[in-house]
Amino acid sequence: AEDELAKAGWLLNMQHLSLGDKIGEGEFGAVLQGEYMGQKVAVKNIKCDVTAQVFLAETAAMTKVQHKNLVRLLGVILHNGLYIVMEFMSKGSLVNFLRTRGRLVIHTRQLLQFSLNVSDGMDYLESKKLVHRDLAARNILISEDNMAKVSDFGLAKVDLKQEDLTRIPVKWTAPEALKHNKFSTKSDVWSFGVLLWEIFSYGRTPYPKMSLKEVCEKIENGYRMEAPEHCPPYVYALMNSCWETDPGKRPSFKKLREKLEKELRALQEG
Ligand code: ADP
Repeated sequence: AEDELAKAGWLLNMQHLSLGDKIGEGEFGAVLQGEYMGQKVAVKNIKCDVTAQVFLAETAAMTKVQHKNLVRLLGVILHNGLYIVMEFMSKGSLVNFLRTRGRLVIHTRQLLQFSLNVSDGMDYLESKKLVHRDLAARNILISEDNMAKVSDFGLAKVDLKQEDLTRIPVKWTAPEALKHNKFSTKSDVWSFGVLLWEIFSYGRTPYPKMSLKEVCEKIENGYRMEAPEHCPPYVYALMNSCWETDPGKRPSFKKLREKLEKELRALQEG
């Protein structure tokens, strides 16, 4: 993976990187703000060598995708483990953005715009036949100009390889993925439904007050979350279409994007 990255020009130079404040804490290490050759960046440092090797392989996959709604990878640096250098998303994670601002500040139009941004990025991943596996509002980041972008794609697979069940985000994962490990674009679509619920509830945790065991059992019996307060009915209908038990009945990301585009246009014209 290292040779491949080097050949393709993805190995960056530590000398051009200056590190600043810590802006987040990831599962595998701190996320720092920084500057790479004059550009503001976010840097993830993975100190554990074994993890770094796995990430390096996954990063090779990330270099093959580029889209305005996917957080852009600038490259990696092999130094103290691994540094992953990404575009800087100044407004942080979508879930925090929604929680700290709330309904009085963020209008439905903005919520729809975020939903559309994510469906656009996912439509692109779908076209590349890439499965995200960890689509959730905590993994969507917001840029200075309020653009929502999907992050942690490619990297999401790392945790699951270890088959550590405690790491699976149960409340976001489709039933067939939970039970039979069948992850697919359609299981990403299920997660997108939960993400829509998070967006329209301004960052609440899904299935409030329910234990993970309870969520699994109830979903199995056909239970689905209620619409968040003030959620437009067409958005709730979209969520429910994502939560079809039969993966084949769920819409594609392309379809979701088209529907969201249409609703946003109607809202802007109306
Ligand atoms: P991990 O997936 O390793 O657990 P995350 O990617 O979720 O870590 O990063 C943890 C936090 O760091 C995020 O919630 C966010 O606040 C911050 N962060 C991550 N990437 C960026 C970025 N590109 N720009 C700005 N902040 C980021």
